[in-house]
Amino acid sequence: MRVAAVYYDGQQARPHPVTLCMEGDKLLLQGRDIARREALADLSIPPPLGNTPRLILFADGGRCEIADRQAFAKLLPDSASNLVTGLENSWPWALAALLLTVALVVGVYLAGLPYAARVAADHVPPQLSAQIDEQFFASLDQTLLKPSALPEARRMAIQHRVQSLSLPVGGGKPARIEFRSAPQLGANAFALPGGSVVLLDELVNLAANDEEIIAVLAHEMGHVAEKHGLRQMLQASVVGLAMTWYIGDVSSLLAAAPTVLLETRYSRDFERRADAFAVDALRANAISPSRLADMLQKLETAQQAKKPDDAAKSGSALDYLSSHPNTEERINRLRSQ
Ligand SMILES: [Zn+2]
Repeated sequence: MRVAAVYYDGQQARPHPVTLCMEGDKLLLQGRDIARREALADLSIPPPLGNTPRLILFADGGRCEIADRQAFAKLLPDSASNLVTGLENSWPWALAALLLTVALVVGVYLAGLPYAARVAADHVPPQLSAQIDEQFFASLDQTLLKPSALPEARRMAIQHRVQSLSLPVGGGKPARIEFRSAPQLGANAFALPGGSVVLLDELVNLAANDEEIIAVLAHEMGHVAEKHGLRQMLQASVVGLAMTWYIGDVSSLLAAAPTVLLETRYSRDFERRADAFAVDALRANAISPSRLADMLQKLETAQQAKKPDDAAKSGSALDYLSSHPNTEERINRLRSQ
């Protein structure tokens, strides 16, 4: 059988009317002043695409268009698979490609992104860190936080105690300790991404002695030493940017950003590392790590005593609450030190 086609030689735009036929495993192309005989193996035949003409591509750039798809199917039954069989043939590959892509994205997210964030966090200059925290204070002081009601002498005493702590190598002294009150949040302390630590009156009042306060601050210093807040913030920004790119809507994302950052919680791993830092720091200052366990227990009890809707309202920027489900595990680990 012969099939009508249009041939382009790949050099000039001029179409040549030709006929195609098979000779064994070779395709024979004949026109008025043209003839080619090519092994099928040397030809590229793209799968059918919608209702467009079928194509045969030659290695030298030549190209054949066959408008009669039925005739093409008879001429080259093997490569004339319809759309459904085409999909059947290609879906395992498509699925494999999709799975590979997902695995890659997850892999980058799980390993690459935290690594990049850690490296980047180490290169954030102190002035920028300070600015970041100022932004946080500007926002938090208008919403969740109120001025501390602790007597100045009490605040000075705690500050002094923190300044005179000797810490394991690697630092971790907070850039500053800020005293605030937040009845809505309850007893708590948290480190901001730039390295400031916020200590709430409610926690100071809940502690039985200064060692318990220092124990909590030592844990926060663990977050500061390893820049957990900054790393988490950098990661969230990257994910935010990616989402913006994907969704294409910047404004809604920007509007949600402060809330998202506040509600970002430390990972279990960060909590474990901050606890380990606290254990070392407390030991180095002759304070038993079980002071932190005592305090965690009290915070847990205080939180459970809160009304459920209060607890829901206070679910922001809460370091101790954030680790709620793991608290018992953390207490046991601290007591066994
Ligand atoms: Zn923590």
